[in-house]
Amino acid sequence: MRADVLQQLVAMSRYLGDPARAYAILGEGNTSARIDDDTFYVKASGTVLSDIGADGFVAVSLGKLTDILEDESAGDADVTEALETALVDPGERRRPSVETFLHAVLLRRREYAFVGHTHPTYTNTLLCSAKAEHAFAGRTCPDHIVVMGHKSVFVPYVDPGLVLAREVKSRIERFVAEEGVLPRAVMMQNHGMLAMGSSPKAVCGITDMAEKTSQMLVGAYSVGGPRFMAAEDVERIFTRPDEKYREKTIST
Ligand SMILES: [Zn+2]
Repeated sequence: MRADVLQQLVAMSRYLGDPARAYAILGEGNTSARIDDDTFYVKASGTVLSDIGADGFVAVSLGKLTDILEDESAGDADVTEALETALVDPGERRRPSVETFLHAVLLRRREYAFVGHTHPTYTNTLLCSAKAEHAFAGRTCPDHIVVMGHKSVFVPYVDPGLVLAREVKSRIERFVAEEGVLPRAVMMQNHGMLAMGSSPKAVCGITDMAEKTSQMLVGAYSVGGPRFMAAEDVERIFTRPDEKYREKTIST
């Protein structure tokens, strides 16, 4: 089971880290996968997605990482300690990525089994622009909805690490309360994106679609600005049975 999850995670990470896709360079980006109810694999600090192998991941405890999220008084020293005590394997010398808390916040939800965090070029072009929130508030075309859902979560810039993980957690809670479904992507201003899914295929598809639509949007802003689909048309595509079927075949 662990070996199978790890193998899938390695393949997903190399896909997302492929230099030809420009989703991450050098040590940018990180990925994770659920092992069981309380543990998950996350990229070890200092590894590179494009050529990562099984030894580029560490197993961590979900419970030990999520405890600190509730502790408002936790500081930098507590973060270092939590990352260390969360390591599952005795004698593990590598350290989990500093964004491990972000992965813990997502993987505590059973619907998500794989998470990919990247800094794709066009997506970050928009996320680092004056139009960041506007660009990710709408849907451009039916395939955008089929792959990424009817809406994504937008997160204004906050300090990476624990503070960011708390912000993502509360914005996902609000999204679920308002929309009645889980989001498939989180767009983080001046930072990058998160893609969440039940399979590596879903995570790669969401990231691919986010980057393609971002490229389209960069173009659309140069010709008068994007014309997003009307809310009722977005809703229609999101709930149509044939589109639900297409959605399923894309992600599994
Ligand atoms: Zn990042």
